[in-house]
Amino acid sequence: MIYTDTRDHAVQVSFKTAVMNGMNAETGGLYVPVSYPKLNKSFLRLVPEPSFRSVAFETARLYCDGEIPDADLQAIIADAYPFSPQIVPADQISYIMELFHGPTCAFKDFGARFMARVMSFFNKDENTPLHILVATSGDTGSAVGSAFHNVPGLDVTILYPEGKISPLQEKQLSTFTGNVRALKIAGTFDDCQKLVKTAFTDADLRAKFRLSSANSINISRLLPQSFYYTFASLVVKNRIPRDSKIEDPSIIMIVPSGNFGNLTSGLIAKEMGAPIAGFVAATNSNRTIPDWIASGNYQPRPSVATLSNAMDVGAPSNYERIRDMYSLEEVRKLFASYWLDDEGTLNAIRHCYSNTGYIIDPHGAVGWQAWSDIRHGALKDLAEGKSADPQKPGLTPNLPCWTDAVLNKKAVGVVLETAHPAKFGETVHSAIGRDPVIPDRLEKVMRLPDHAIPMSADYTAFKEWLMSHL
Ligand SMILES: *Cc1c(COP(=O)(O)O)cnc(C)c1O
Repeated sequence: MIYTDTRDHAVQVSFKTAVMNGMNAETGGLYVPVSYPKLNKSFLRLVPEPSFRSVAFETARLYCDGEIPDADLQAIIADAYPFSPQIVPADQISYIMELFHGPTCAFKDFGARFMARVMSFFNKDENTPLHILVATSGDTGSAVGSAFHNVPGLDVTILYPEGKISPLQEKQLSTFTGNVRALKIAGTFDDCQKLVKTAFTDADLRAKFRLSSANSINISRLLPQSFYYTFASLVVKNRIPRDSKIEDPSIIMIVPSGNFGNLTSGLIAKEMGAPIAGFVAATNSNRTIPDWIASGNYQPRPSVATLSNAMDVGAPSNYERIRDMYSLEEVRKLFASYWLDDEGTLNAIRHCYSNTGYIIDPHGAVGWQAWSDIRHGALKDLAEGKSADPQKPGLTPNLPCWTDAVLNKKAVGVVLETAHPAKFGETVHSAIGRDPVIPDRLEKVMRLPDHAIPMSADYTAFKEWLMSHL
């Protein structure tokens, strides 16, 4: 596969170059494959559906063709995924796709673990370390730290906004030693992201170090996230005849979104032929994408703090990839777009629990509420011409191409549960009055000592630190 750049389609690079560079320093653009190959039709029709790992392998080999031999790719996938997504029915037409069964209890393990192993494969003939810089609004740091910890030849620096992530999230990314360290930045997530982006275009740093990113801008984190969309769509397609009597259902993926990496991965799965009818892009009060879909104006802005803090992104990087794939009109046909405030998020956790018994985390809750509103009349109201108030939480006014499927009760929703509820125990407790059970792997990390290094959001200070400490 050849990869090009969102800002310059004349660029042509290999998978290795795209992975190791993270982004194109010359243009500031993001790497994208020149095309989205189709998965084999007979593979997609297998009954019972193929395993998660075999979906992963059949997908990944199309993107690393000729650069990673099949046997090595099989080994990378087996080592990356000792766990898999669990698709849990919540009611007759709703499923929850649990993406938190990895070591750090959030979906980012899927991308980070694949990326770490691919980078390690490509780095094995080098004699200097590859330095990974990563900005995190919560779960990226821990997933990347955990995925790269003790991987030879790789070195990781994590930047996170001090005081803006939960104490548990902070523990999860600041207790590493050896090749992984954390800087706590006096600023916002956007400040952290800017520091990293500036470092990548800094000639002094690039002359001294081999730098790479691990944010969702790296294509090797994005591609593996498509595995679980394809897998889930096949599982649900085979289950529907047992769970409900819907013939030929339209499968809608509901994606709690921040930087829009996860949703972009879903778009890749659909392009490759997974039976997905469309998407719901669900955000918290960081409404940059819903506002763009509603108004046609894309206006990145500073992020605001919410209960679903891993989605607190005001300038989503993957907007650029989405625009590379689709026009605004196509996006309006493919997505419903929805936003929810904190009060609505707490209510969503409560309603999900009282209606289904399922304890959902604040990120998944935003998606759950979007799906709940859609199936209970919000889309019908729009179809009947009732206008929504864009200043209030809810759907944007576009009618996606799968609207009729919802109105005719032929749609099923798959809500992506992106983190384990125990990672946000306090919020969950305040909504339902009880604590989620804490998995052992989370309990363990709480007892480790913290090694984070405090730092200002000033670029010069950050650069000096890198120059003298890496
Ligand atoms: C990162 C994250 C998100 C947002 O994913 P994007 O790919 O940035 O849109 C949602 N939920 C959780 C728990 C996350 O960690």
